[in-house]
Amino acid sequence: MANKRRIIRGLGPNTVVRCRLGHVFTTMWIPGVSFKAVRLGWARFQRCPVGRHWSVVRPVDPDELTAAEKLSAAHHRDVRIP
Ligand SMILES: [Zn+2]
Repeated sequence: MANKRRIIRGLGPNTVVRCRLGHVFTTMWIPGVSFKAVRLGWARFQRCPVGRHWSVVRPVDPDELTAAEKLSAAHHRDVRIP
């Protein structure tokens, strides 16, 4: 449970997530609120802007990202909800 509590704090308008293929990008992730994605607990099904495909994505701890992954997250951002 400690791990889950830690992840909750990282959620919000600038949540770093990783898709099934390993792409890393930034998206909006508000717990308990469904926007354009189907919520699957701690995973969501949404479009990956890196590979331009649909995939299950999960929040990742920014501290666990490599330098390349942080760069990817900074450059790939999901489209904001108007
Ligand atoms: Zn991807």
